[in-house]
Amino acid sequence: MLRTHTCGELDLKAVGKTVTLAGWLQRSRDLGGMTFIDLRDRYGITQLVFNMEQDAALCEAARKLGREFVLQVSGQVTERENKNPKMATGDVEIIVREFKVLNSAITPPFTIEDHTDGGDDLRMKYRYLDIRRNPVKEALLLRARVAAETRNYLNRQGFVEVETPVLIKSTPEGARDFVVPSRMNQGEFYALPQSPQTFKQLLMVAGMDKYYQIVKCFRDEDLRADRQPEFTQIDCEMSFIEREDILSTFEGMARYLFQSVKGVDIGTLPRMTYAEAMERYGNDKPDTRFGMELKDLNKLVKGKNFKVFDEAGLVVAIAVPGCAEYTRKQLDELTDWVKRPQIGMSGLVYAKYATDGTIKSSVDKFYSADDLKQWAVATDAQPGDLILVLAGAEPKTRKAMSELRLEMGERLGLCDRNTFRCLWVVDFPLLEWGEESNRWHAMHHPFTAPIPEDIGLLQIDPGKVRANAYDMVINGVEVGGGSIRIFDKQLQSRMFEVLGFSKDEAQHQFGFLLNAFEYGAPPHGGIAFGFDRLCSLFGGADSIRDYIAFPKNNAGRDVMIDSPSTISEEQLKELGIAIRA
Ligand code: ASP
Repeated sequence: MLRTHTCGELDLKAVGKTVTLAGWLQRSRDLGGMTFIDLRDRYGITQLVFNMEQDAALCEAARKLGREFVLQVSGQVTERENKNPKMATGDVEIIVREFKVLNSAITPPFTIEDHTDGGDDLRMKYRYLDIRRNPVKEALLLRARVAAETRNYLNRQGFVEVETPVLIKSTPEGARDFVVPSRMNQGEFYALPQSPQTFKQLLMVAGMDKYYQIVKCFRDEDLRADRQPEFTQIDCEMSFIEREDILSTFEGMARYLFQSVKGVDIGTLPRMTYAEAMERYGNDKPDTRFGMELKDLNKLVKGKNFKVFDEAGLVVAIAVPGCAEYTRKQLDELTDWVKRPQIGMSGLVYAKYATDGTIKSSVDKFYSADDLKQWAVATDAQPGDLILVLAGAEPKTRKAMSELRLEMGERLGLCDRNTFRCLWVVDFPLLEWGEESNRWHAMHHPFTAPIPEDIGLLQIDPGKVRANAYDMVINGVEVGGGSIRIFDKQLQSRMFEVLGFSKDEAQHQFGFLLNAFEYGAPPHGGIAFGFDRLCSLFGGADSIRDYIAFPKNNAGRDVMIDSPSTISEEQLKELGIAIRA
């Protein structure tokens, strides 16, 4: 080894020892008689001291070293006079006897500090320098720990890690595939897996019983905020189980990860049906760190000559705690907020429930004090609260209110990153109607089983059929989702029929799975967790980017390696591909 110790481990116990360290020059300070250098490696920073009096030549040489030079230094560990309690090695410093420049470095394009002067684009272009910075390095270390603990838990539960191929064909998650042309089979293409869904089901047919994989998935979607075209899942599947078994196994995994990584006990996860989540929060991934639940005012507000409410499919309200004193300006700003195209409402009605018990609203012309009191009762508003009301068509209005609720939660500081509220959302609809495609789509994927008592509805009222599916939701984020699968051929055929697949299409796309099901498929089910998202949640970050070593930007580009990029004429020819001008 080129070193005896790392830059993060020396303390008072080592005083007097001669050590050799290696690392990068973080910064140097020249104080006339003395020069100090901070030497950094993955493990920390150690202060080096060069003394003019003791060795002028060495000190002069040290002064010439630039930022990010790679050094090997030897010297004696001594106790510092000015200790730095913020640093793990802050009690000691190294009086350097000799050093070697292992490599020089040009000046980095941004400072390698916790708070850097580098913007996002620059950091991404020089990601290898960005990773030298503490916050990004820590994020990657956290990610590695979460992965290790995940494996610990699942291995102990008897799961086997099986790798599945990356060059496959279309998967059922419903996004667009990334495709790879085949040289040996010209005109034909592989698709990259949107998930290992079909393979994990085949592994159940193969008798593997309990499978998992921490695996890359690829979806060629327009990149909405904080999505990556390739991302990682903890993908799992189990045989001979019922929904309860999956929920308890993976609730156990979440509890174990929170305990081992964060030291947090998340307790028992409550369950909420999709219908209840939509009614109470307007959202199938409710953030339950705070209340402000949605209350339907339809029954209270109709027939008072207020056209907007009379004509609305839904009049829905929340009581925002302690905001009765909002000024005209604040309320106008909130009104503008709900009118933004992303929210799309035409206006906002409010009622201020003052601490003296009186209520004043923006629709006093139509609603008496008694009417407004009823609103307060319906929304559980307390004196001092502000009642906000939206009206319009379902489901748009419910969704808008959900957004407004989240916005108010954020503004009021109710979304504490160190509070974790986890729950299961269950009983999703099996199908959703595609307005544009004019047909039913699987809300999860076409292998998801209906809840047994709803199977009869499949032919009569498909929209009413509930899926035997579940999502784990933490702080308003869907961290995992899965389902009990269809393992009966006839039911699977019926499902494909409802989804508008002809027999041939189903056979063409998923024939391999349907054929496998002819050979005795066990009852099975599974789940997949968004691993990047889980890591960012543990790290208390909004973005998943820093938890991925080499992420892509919002245009799906890796700006560091400059990909995607064109390929040579020769390569194209080999693949039998022509690019249209
Ligand atoms: N394959 C599913 C997904 O990626 C998860 C599952 O059903 O297990 O969402």
